[in-house]
Amino acid sequence: MNQIKFLVKELMKVKTRFAPSPTGNLHIGSIRTALYSWLFARHYHGKFILRIEDTDFERFDSKSVESILYGLKWLGLNWDEGPYFQSKRLERYKEVIKMMLESGNAYKCFCSVKELEDERIRQVSKGKKPRYSGICRNLHYRNYIANENYVVRFKNPISGQVTFEDKIRGKITFQNEELDDLVIQRSNGIPTYNFCVVIDDLDMNITHVIRGEDHINNTPRQINILKSLNAKIPIYAHVSMIFNEDGHKFSKRQDALNILEYCKDGFLPEALLNYVIRLGWSCGNQEIFSISEMKELFDLRKISKSSSAVSMKKLFWLNKYYINNLPLSYISNLLKDHMNHEKINLKNGPDLESVLTLLKNRHHTLKEIAQSSRYFYEEFANFDKSAADEYLIPENHFILKNLYKNIKKISIWSNETLSSLIKNDCIKLKITLRKISMLLRVVLTGNIFSPSISSVIFLIGKEKTLLRLKKAILFIDNKIKNINN
Ligand code: GLU
Repeated sequence: MNQIKFLVKELMKVKTRFAPSPTGNLHIGSIRTALYSWLFARHYHGKFILRIEDTDFERFDSKSVESILYGLKWLGLNWDEGPYFQSKRLERYKEVIKMMLESGNAYKCFCSVKELEDERIRQVSKGKKPRYSGICRNLHYRNYIANENYVVRFKNPISGQVTFEDKIRGKITFQNEELDDLVIQRSNGIPTYNFCVVIDDLDMNITHVIRGEDHINNTPRQINILKSLNAKIPIYAHVSMIFNEDGHKFSKRQDALNILEYCKDGFLPEALLNYVIRLGWSCGNQEIFSISEMKELFDLRKISKSSSAVSMKKLFWLNKYYINNLPLSYISNLLKDHMNHEKINLKNGPDLESVLTLLKNRHHTLKEIAQSSRYFYEEFANFDKSAADEYLIPENHFILKNLYKNIKKISIWSNETLSSLIKNDCIKLKITLRKISMLLRVVLTGNIFSPSISSVIFLIGKEKTLLRLKKAILFIDNKIKNINN
């Protein structure tokens, strides 16, 4: 019993982090890392922290920080601590570097760029793998020189190996002789990326590092630094690559659409998270996962070692699923933003939930729904040319006149009344239901696409329907006049 209690307590200490470098967009690949880290922490009732790795001042992009914070919030990936900014922790890194210089775990390297380059050329010409030979490694007395131009290097063990048990890929071993003495502080005094990560993971008590496989090669270097500081080594899980739809490696530049673009394009956070979790993680054949199911079922062991490919088709499918299955009031609330964005004034038409009910099964995104709902709220400027050529023709003149007369007479404005009125007109005028429906679509929406026409008429309302019928009748009148002239 006690042992179980202990285990539960240990698991609840789980602490993961999402540590993006603010050098570009928050894209699908980084969202996946964030989601897996967040889910792992939530599954074990642990903590999830956000850390912005902003020590690369040249590539720093403040818009990227905004996109990270806003994107995570939009997706609901809330963090328990942070955001920490590495740029605000420089003093702490310097303190550790000083300590490492004193303990002999690090040393100052005075080799010039030219010397290092010459060394590299020599090694390559001899067919050797280029690496720093460690000339400055034993110049202990020079550690006390402050004013010269130098970098600080970590004294990596010369022999032996580093092994870690990756939660996704199993045992991974690196030979120490293949690892350089890593530069941990540049000549401008700024610590390097690999070093800051280590000190942060240590100071922030990170238990599980879940990140992209492009960081596998950094792991042995980071472990060696942690070991030199007698620190506990976190558990690592490196997630495989994502391919784009053409089967090429997902490129940050070409495929990395900012996550906020998905928001603008009318995708739901629920759909996006469901889509992203399945990029490399599965649970039987299940495709749909609510957020609470994700938290309950997420397990690092079910992450695939092989790469996964993005598929917009799948994302559209999921988005349509969530639009149709999440509560109407929730979706309609989100839709409001898109209506505003399209500058559609909701006061000029039916209530949004009714419009949504009618359109939601016909579209894949909220943006599409907003764009195709315009005719409920505004008069359209022109009839679609080919639709008008086909339907707004003299032989249909009498059908419209008849409809106008009958609709005007309606006293109980309901979907049922409209539906039977249309059916009766079909019988009376000997025309097909399809023909009259298409004709009414062109009259009321300007085009040939719309849901059930009686529902559309019902929502547009009597007054506007009669006005549009009049406009179509006039349009045909003019056509007739032109023919006669
Ligand atoms: N800042 C790194 C990146 O954006 C991640 C570092 C890490 O997860 O250890 O790729």
